[in-house]
Amino acid sequence: MKNRYPENWPDIALKVKQAARWRCQECGLKCIEPGQKTKGLSRSEIAKHCLAVHHQNYKPEDNRPENLIALCSACHCAKHQGRRGSITIGQLELIS
Ligand SMILES: [Zn+2]
Ligand SMILES: [Zn+2]
Repeated sequence: MKNRYPENWPDIALKVKQAARWRCQECGLKCIEPGQKTKGLSRSEIAKHCLAVHHQNYKPEDNRPENLIALCSACHCAKHQGRRGSITIGQLELIS
């Protein structure tokens, strides 16, 4: 699964998140930016405010800008539910 991603995927994902200004493009939740202090936040709060880049057509090799959308954990989870059964947030980081 992981090798379906291009080598520059971290750069691509970062650009999508920056363009979204670190907000979920579905519900508008402001997520944690790199370097932002997370002291005092619980692990579950951090996980909840972790922005992910989602492939709208579920194809990780299709990295056209129109296929990519920045989503918070909850919205990202919802997108994948029913497709692969129930998956954890940890697994979502791998499939985006
Ligand atoms: Zn959201
Ligand atoms: Zn996804």
